[in-house]
Amino acid sequence: MTTPTFPAATILGYPRIGPNRELKKAVEAFWRGASSAESAEADAFALRRANRARLVELGLGATDSSIPEASSYYDHVLDTAVAVGAVPTRFQSLVGQDGSVDLSAYSTIARGAGEDAPLEMTKWFDSNYHYLVPEIGPDTVFAPSDRRRLAEFQEALADGYRTRPAFVGPVTFLALAKPTDDAPEGFRPLDRLADLVPVYATLIAELAEAGAEWVQLDEPALVTDSLPDSREALLTAAETTYRALAAASPRPSLFVAAPYGDLGEALPVLAGTGVEAIGIDLVRGATPSEAHRAALGAVTVVAGVIDGHNIWRGDLGAALAAAEELVPLAAAVAVSPSTSLLHVPHTVDVETELDAELRSWLAFADEKVGQVVTLARGLRDGRDAIATELDDAAAALQRRADAPGVRVPAIRERVAALTDDDANRGDVAARIAAQEAALGLDLLPTTTIGSFPQTGDIRKTRAAHARGDISDADYEQAMRDEIARVIDLQEELGLDVLVHGEPERNDMVQYFAEHLDGFAVTQHGWVQSYGSRATRPSILWGDVSRPAPITVAWSTYAASLTDKPVKGMLTGPVTILAWSFVRDDQPLGDTALQVALALRDEISDLEAAGIGIVQVDEPALRELLPLRRADQPAYLDWSVRSFRVATSGAADATQIHTHLCYSEFAQVIDAIDALGADVTSIEAARSRMEVVDDVAASGFSRAVGPGVYDIHSPRVPSVQEVTGLIERALDGVPATRLWINPDCGLKTRGYEETTASLRNLVAATRAVREELAAGA
Ligand code: GLN
Ligand code: ZN
Repeated sequence: MTTPTFPAATILGYPRIGPNRELKKAVEAFWRGASSAESAEADAFALRRANRARLVELGLGATDSSIPEASSYYDHVLDTAVAVGAVPTRFQSLVGQDGSVDLSAYSTIARGAGEDAPLEMTKWFDSNYHYLVPEIGPDTVFAPSDRRRLAEFQEALADGYRTRPAFVGPVTFLALAKPTDDAPEGFRPLDRLADLVPVYATLIAELAEAGAEWVQLDEPALVTDSLPDSREALLTAAETTYRALAAASPRPSLFVAAPYGDLGEALPVLAGTGVEAIGIDLVRGATPSEAHRAALGAVTVVAGVIDGHNIWRGDLGAALAAAEELVPLAAAVAVSPSTSLLHVPHTVDVETELDAELRSWLAFADEKVGQVVTLARGLRDGRDAIATELDDAAAALQRRADAPGVRVPAIRERVAALTDDDANRGDVAARIAAQEAALGLDLLPTTTIGSFPQTGDIRKTRAAHARGDISDADYEQAMRDEIARVIDLQEELGLDVLVHGEPERNDMVQYFAEHLDGFAVTQHGWVQSYGSRATRPSILWGDVSRPAPITVAWSTYAASLTDKPVKGMLTGPVTILAWSFVRDDQPLGDTALQVALALRDEISDLEAAGIGIVQVDEPALRELLPLRRADQPAYLDWSVRSFRVATSGAADATQIHTHLCYSEFAQVIDAIDALGADVTSIEAARSRMEVVDDVAASGFSRAVGPGVYDIHSPRVPSVQEVTGLIERALDGVPATRLWINPDCGLKTRGYEETTASLRNLVAATRAVREELAAGA
């Protein structure tokens, strides 16, 4: 077999939703029944074709396998699951005779249908992308099944491109899977590796036969040590897998990519298996140590030297140096971004409203493609060949360091003066007593997470206001009308702690970014969050401060309409950082404290205006958790401290809530406890209340609201189902500390299902209250 050479410049993946969110529009129209599957497929094909053409225009080779074939209708983990036949039993009937999973079946697995819950969704490594969790049991039948990737490769070939089909690698696929419900105690999906690898071998053999010269297998599981499987088990699995795949024939050359961190001792293991190329993340990870270098002489190292996860133009000279350092060590060196470009928007070019100076500091996906192409040229022809590009990047970096607003002395002095007292609310018992006296709530208080459905009208009104088409006064009135409707509805439903519904917020982070100094917002900077959902992260470029109160007028207006308590609603410092593109020129912890002080002032203004409950959302707390255990304590330290600085100015009688979005509560339970919030709501429905066991096991002593229904799907849970979940929650949490709420905010839902679901939530709560009263 002659080994084709790896392209000098490549990317691991490209934004999938389209520059104008074409894919989102196409699949959502199909889901709504407004268009056919054929029409959605045609739009998706047009987007794939346009993306390939764009990448060639930006300097990648059309036929050298530098373009990854890595699109997805919803999620790349689900794509891999359907390719290997790992479809849960409840959806098996949707799979075609030949193993194919058409768009309708695929959508159902992703989103659920009727009583059939969709796959669980959770965060992809330390990003804000969510993947669908495969369910693997002892009886899961792996078989080469859906051939969408092959079809895409062939479609590209017909257009004159030889692309590089990408899959989630077998080790990562199993490491991220969860055992099926009927799996015996102690079973791990990774136990099934030997059955899975031959399926990959078949799929990639078919690709080789179709003309693929390279395939890409993403193995980020090999950079972490905080997955349920031990690192040792993962390394052994990697060794077995890649020895087997390398020995298979026919096959394309194998490129194993390991983004999001440092491979460490997994690097020599992989390099010794016979794979031809290995992608390493040199932004998060370090240059391979002396001990890990020996085996590199046999492989192409694909140096991930451009940050794929952030939008700064960065230090191009340093990136080149990092790649150059590998040249004497490896058989060949290629250049790529550190991760898939899935995490950044398409292009800076369309951001015409951003300050020109700020724009010159940025690089989105297309600009990063340009950067890797430039660096590949520099590696091949020497530094002089790209001197202009290096000088321009260095000059931009210098201008950024010196720009006004990047370092504001008054803000820095306030952060420097913080003491431990500023991060401490004092005695818990006193707080509980003061809050009981102030609020007088029923047992099992019901509430929501904050947002209510964002109807087309709300979005239109906000957009019209942003364009200047309607006056401030008209806009304000429209939002007030909406708040009044939402308050009325909550009263009618019988909820206990009300919210104003967040109609004025386009996004829980961007809204604050728009009202704080030190941030900029983009017009088109969409980034996929899950499925067809995208967010538009703000850019935190300078020192942060709050020029004026942000939420007080909306919350007090809502409170004026009801006798029930209304929760003020803020986004916490860690989440504001996690869901923005944050400056990379100082530690995150320093930036977090600046945000915390702005929030602290906001809470104090809310209290002064009579708001007695304030929720500070931190759904991203676990997302930023470093993938290596050794790095976690320092992170938890600064993240917890920033939350405490934000909330510790509150009086005893003010009840502080927080909300977190994920189910692996156990991982960060101590940190959640350390936040010191009086009430914590958390996602739980999709994992069927497993979190309650963690709460019980950890001795978590504060009030919790494990979500009793999944807001990620339009399914309405029955009263009986919610009752069951509440009863299940009561196994682990005493009634005096249990709150009843949905999993997350309702803004992506429609009113019909929201109203029905909340009605059932209240009815179920009342039923359980009666049971408790009868039992007592
Ligand atoms: N308060 C926010 C909302 O309800 C929380 C959303 C979230 O946790 N992602 O929309
Ligand atoms: Zn949430």
